[in-house]
Amino acid sequence: MVKENDTHENLFPGSITGQQPPGVILWAEIILPLAIPKTYTYAVPDGIVAKVIPGCRVEVVFGKNKKYAGIVKSISPVHPAYETKEIINVIDEEPVIYPQQLQLWHWISEYYTCSEGEVMNAALPAHLKLSSEAILVYNEEYGEDFSTLDNEEYLVAEALLIKRELRLQEVQQVLDVNHVYPVIKKLIEKKVCFIWEAFNEKYKIKKANYVILNPEFNREEKLNDLFNNWETRAPKQLELLLSYLHLIKMDGEVTQAALLKKSGASPAQLKSLTDKNILFIEKRSIDRIPSLPKILSIDFELSEAQERALDKIRAAFNSLNVCLFHGITSSGKTQLYIRLIEDYIKKDTQVLYLLPEITLTAQVIRRLQKNFGGNIGIYHSKFNNNERVELWNKINNGELKIILGARSALFLPFKNLGLIIVDEEHDSSYKQQDPAPRYNARDTAIFYASLFSAKVLLGSATPSIESYYNARKNKYALVELEERYGGVLLPAIEIIDTKLVAASKKGKVMLSPQLKAAIEEEVSRNKQVILFQNRRGYSPVLICGTCGFIPHCVNCDVSLTLHKFSNRLHCHYCGTSYPKLIECPACGSVNWMEKNFGTEKIEEELQTQFPSYRIARMDLDSVRGKTAHDNLIRLFEQHRLDILAGTQMVVKGLDFEQVSLVGILDADGLLSFTDFRVNERAFQQMEQVSGRAGRKTERGKVMIQAAKIDHPVLLFMQQHDYKSLYNFEIENRKHFFYPPFSRIIKITLKHRMREVVNEAAEKLGDALKKDLHDFVMGTASPVVNRIRNLYLMELLIKLPKDAARLQVYKKVITNHFNLLHADKKFKSVLLIADVDPN
Ligand code: ADP
Ligand code: ZN
Ligand code: ZN
Repeated sequence: MVKENDTHENLFPGSITGQQPPGVILWAEIILPLAIPKTYTYAVPDGIVAKVIPGCRVEVVFGKNKKYAGIVKSISPVHPAYETKEIINVIDEEPVIYPQQLQLWHWISEYYTCSEGEVMNAALPAHLKLSSEAILVYNEEYGEDFSTLDNEEYLVAEALLIKRELRLQEVQQVLDVNHVYPVIKKLIEKKVCFIWEAFNEKYKIKKANYVILNPEFNREEKLNDLFNNWETRAPKQLELLLSYLHLIKMDGEVTQAALLKKSGASPAQLKSLTDKNILFIEKRSIDRIPSLPKILSIDFELSEAQERALDKIRAAFNSLNVCLFHGITSSGKTQLYIRLIEDYIKKDTQVLYLLPEITLTAQVIRRLQKNFGGNIGIYHSKFNNNERVELWNKINNGELKIILGARSALFLPFKNLGLIIVDEEHDSSYKQQDPAPRYNARDTAIFYASLFSAKVLLGSATPSIESYYNARKNKYALVELEERYGGVLLPAIEIIDTKLVAASKKGKVMLSPQLKAAIEEEVSRNKQVILFQNRRGYSPVLICGTCGFIPHCVNCDVSLTLHKFSNRLHCHYCGTSYPKLIECPACGSVNWMEKNFGTEKIEEELQTQFPSYRIARMDLDSVRGKTAHDNLIRLFEQHRLDILAGTQMVVKGLDFEQVSLVGILDADGLLSFTDFRVNERAFQQMEQVSGRAGRKTERGKVMIQAAKIDHPVLLFMQQHDYKSLYNFEIENRKHFFYPPFSRIIKITLKHRMREVVNEAAEKLGDALKKDLHDFVMGTASPVVNRIRNLYLMELLIKLPKDAARLQVYKKVITNHFNLLHADKKFKSVLLIADVDPN
């Protein structure tokens, strides 16, 4: 709805005309779902005084004639110094937002320097956000039984049934009145329709059965073999398969229903293909909130070490509210969480279990559902609106006790939260980048829990330096679990010096002979292999071998990545793609060199090297569909694949039994970032992916390919020595005054013209230095300094960690933003403050 660049343009209402009606004695602060800096004050008309309660939605006009459902934040008898508009209408009889949620919104807006409206926008599900821009969409699953609707509801429902979608204005026309929000609210509650926001994924009805091709046939030769040897007796099946291949190419995913319809084949013909293991059918349970029985069946025992750790956590919670649980990979953290959750369920409090989005896979969900059945609700960005409404209501009325969700699950309406678990607490995806609020869900969870006197368990095999520091300083309790479940040792690490390999070959080493031999050995004894490379695409950089020209994006200052699947050059920053270049536009030669390698190239290399192995790739490009990611995990889990090669997606939280070898293909790449967290992040990624090896029965093996083999992080890795890494890092951080010793605020300026953004940055930097002195690190042009045709400049501010002064410093910064914007020349410069940036 409201985009970043609306912050300072066109959002302020025109002058307010007319006198305040005489009867008004109360004014309400209303949070509007907009990026305006403050809450907005409205007069409460006499007739509705009793109904205007904090947390309720009210209908108001903002600006000339835009209407919104705002949230009442507070009510006051103090006459504001200016004239105010009146609240039109109260939408809810009961608050839809609890006081704790309002406090949370307020805290986020202060801490992360954004408006409460921006928080509201992120926090409220679409069905509670009514505005002139909203579109009502008919719920196809409702059917056509309108007998429970009253007259007004019926009129709108009928119009919806015909048109499928209605804008708010159209609803007003249908009803011939101005006050339509209460009617819409009822229709949403009765599930006749839902709200669709333009930027959301279009609503799709649930489809149960999906068809997937046996990945063996992802390889062209294999597929050709299959066609060449097709029995002539089964032409219908062949047709069916061809339809499938066509559909999957078009849509990325194929449902059984769509396939049968499209091909005109019979279910029996499809069954023949699945019997032959050419196609598989998968039922997707993640699609919908499953209505499982509300069981509590915990059918496993903790190991002695796990039990001891759990007891320590319980004891720690007697004195502290936050506990860091450092448990090595495969120590059984999830099982321990399950036991801990049980404690809180028995106390009849709610539990929020946070995971990074990408880790929230069917695998984890299944593990929890096994123990908690229908007591657990799942909150996932892949869910559609209706599912979110259902979940929202079930949490609100206390029906759901446990919520498993990604960072935005923090905004759900918990009533009596007892425990928040932040799993993989170190993960950078807990931090929201864009748009505001740029909050870190881990840190926000700690604040939120305090409002309920709830406990927070931060879990990780590789804790963030900040959290470990807090634990060392006794701000958090610290519990460590240093043995794997079942007693298997952490994998042995071998570092392969690519300099010695490179000498014999040209270019960067992708698969060293050592790694190749190890893969062969493991697959031949029926084990599985994971390979990790943190770049997607085929070749991240193309260079003209004659003149050195590098193809760049037109809109961004970055080189383009060659992708094989599209056979085009892609910009990973703005998404634009370009045809592959034949001749160098600069010198006309056709001598292209590929520098570096991405996952596509690895996949290709693996297929050349191991033509008989079953190989799959897992990265953003290969798992585009709604459930592709889960499918791939399932295929690997069921050992229908030998090798899984991928980006950081393969790093996170997966539990496979048969993986005995992990290869990290380019450690130098992980260690080459210029950011102060580079060592921490590189260690976390390597240790996490290593943790996928040898989890259950026998000790696994990890091979790390690197040129800088004596890099300290690699030495720590070799010993799985988190504590030495921590000690090494904490010294660096102290020396350079980085977090956890300081707090960083990163200011980014964006503008279409380079001169303007440079000048603005300089002006802002100088102004800030007058107030914040040495805390301002000066302006810099970021590595990628133009994205989507906007030039970027950055200003880093390192502040001391004194909470009281911090708020003052933030005010200083916002004031300077306003001053800069007051200058006509810089009015259209976008200013972003990111507190605790990644
Ligand atoms: P982590 O999250 O620490 O990496 P997991 O919780 O995934 O570890 O545990 C690793 C594996 O060991 C999983 O397959 C899990 O089911 C199994 N496991 C761990 N603890 C137990 C237990 N107490 N009883 C049975 N299985 C366990
Ligand atoms: Zn050239
Ligand atoms: Zn671009």
